[in-house]
Amino acid sequence: MAIITCLRCKREVDSCATRCAKCGWELPEDMCPQCGSMNTKIVVFGSYSASPAVGDDEPKYVCKTCGKRFG
Ligand SMILES: [Zn+2]
Ligand SMILES: [Zn+2]
Repeated sequence: MAIITCLRCKREVDSCATRCAKCGWELPEDMCPQCGSMNTKIVVFGSYSASPAVGDDEPKYVCKTCGKRFG
């Protein structure tokens, strides 16, 4: 887990939280919950044209810093 800085109130927020406990700022959906990196990309399953909707239980993002999949 990592500690990130809230972009609104500048307090420290655990990266696995969904929002800042102080001001309610929501962490970006594509922020890595493991290391706090914004260096992430959307995981692409198959081709755009043929693939059905991605299931809710599939990770949508992969962190390019630590390799964690999440979302
Ligand atoms: Zn805050
Ligand atoms: Zn990461």
